[in-house]
Amino acid sequence: MDRPLRIAVIGAGPAGIYAADHLIKAAETATVDIFDRLPTPYGLIRYGVAPDHPRIKEIINALHRVLDHPRIRFIGNVDYGVDVKQEELSRFYDATVVATGADKDRVLDIPGVDLPGSYGAADFASWYNGHPDVPREWPLTATTIAVLGAGNVAVDVARILAKTADELLVTEIPDNVYQELAKSPATDVHVFSRRGPAQVKFTPQELRELDVSPNVEVIVHPEGIEFDEGSLATMRATRHVKMCVDILQNWAVRDPRDRPRRLHLHFLQAPVSIAGDGKVESLRTETQELTGDGSVRGTGEFTDWDVQAVYRAIGYLSRPLADLPFDTTTGTIPHAAGRVLDLDGEHIPGMYVTGWIKRGPVGLIGHTKGDANETVTSLIADADTLPVAPQRDPEAVITYLEERLVRFTTWAGWQQLDVHEVSLGEPHSRKRVKVVPRDEMIDICNRIAS
Ligand code: NAP
Repeated sequence: MDRPLRIAVIGAGPAGIYAADHLIKAAETATVDIFDRLPTPYGLIRYGVAPDHPRIKEIINALHRVLDHPRIRFIGNVDYGVDVKQEELSRFYDATVVATGADKDRVLDIPGVDLPGSYGAADFASWYNGHPDVPREWPLTATTIAVLGAGNVAVDVARILAKTADELLVTEIPDNVYQELAKSPATDVHVFSRRGPAQVKFTPQELRELDVSPNVEVIVHPEGIEFDEGSLATMRATRHVKMCVDILQNWAVRDPRDRPRRLHLHFLQAPVSIAGDGKVESLRTETQELTGDGSVRGTGEFTDWDVQAVYRAIGYLSRPLADLPFDTTTGTIPHAAGRVLDLDGEHIPGMYVTGWIKRGPVGLIGHTKGDANETVTSLIADADTLPVAPQRDPEAVITYLEERLVRFTTWAGWQQLDVHEVSLGEPHSRKRVKVVPRDEMIDICNRIAS
């Protein structure tokens, strides 16, 4: 390959940034523009990872080094499909890598799910992380709350709901989030797993973190602590599952602690319906039994729980993108080794995909490196046959956006906002305080970058 490739990456989360990193390393003359519909880079690390997880947020330092590379540009506040379409991108770039991730909530189809007081965990995580596109207010009026699901997102949501606002004040949470959390009257948060302790999707470290707050007593209800052959096999084969089970069993038998808020973990309870007169007043679950291989079936025994809010943390979902195929069953873009396939199973020339929208919303941040590696390997193998973009001057796309009055942000602009947020935190000994309104973010980026 001897032509200098021009590549667009859609999505500036870890998946897109890892892909850009692989690209510039694999092709010495390639240049990469990373677009994001948000004015800021880092995707779910900035807007999904819980604020009391500063260790995970530090992955941003490594991603910053990638975005600082002279052959990579960040172009924020550009909505693919609205501000720029695939047809236009193909004028400016030889190939496009889609890395838009998954930021919606998977649908839970049970009666009452749309009642006020029933929330998606992804929406709630966006709110407490100061996402510009969700309302500033969040009605935290429930004393007793249900969280559905047994993954790390359920753990995050339950922990944020159970902790006191002051415990979170050391983090980067925006002021409006602190103010709302401080008013929360929550005393009991109930997490419901539809399967047993050996089928949880939590990771041990995240599970242990539930128990460190001096204000929260974690209570494991022993009724659902059951194991079948499948459970025992999983525990033998998978170390982190065994570790989670050990932690849960220890918690199930320990003496009660006197703490003002309680976080309950229930197993073998599947959500059946949500009820209430104009708002959530109760959740009905059906007790499950293990069938032998780690699956469950209903027993016909139901329990009604008095709760005033239900948070659904049953997995994320990707959004379809304009002009691209999308498998609504898996919530992914069909592909072969990262090459996007059309409805006939043929590779759409110049189109590639990586990250959660390629493989589904599972796995930790580091796993997207493997995706990026596979996708970039395919792209580089195809390099000689890629369509040649006619307007390859890097300024051409900038002119295009300016002509359409798109208020895009740049890497220099984001760095200015970064400095500004850090300075907001300094007087309060906090690492940063986030700016939330989109216009304010863009103003700060563009004021300095220009
Ligand atoms: P997840 O790990 O796939 O967990 C989803 C949970 O929802 C599972 O327990 C699943 O149970 C349950 N569920 C699915 N459908 C359900 C239904 N209809 N009724 C009741 N329960 C249902 O998804 P996630 O928690 O959204 O996490 C996504 C990814 O992000 C994971 O890889 C996670 O590790 C990662 N993440 C990591 C961190 C961290 O490292 N700190 C934080 C957040 C997220 P079944 O198993 O029975 O299907």
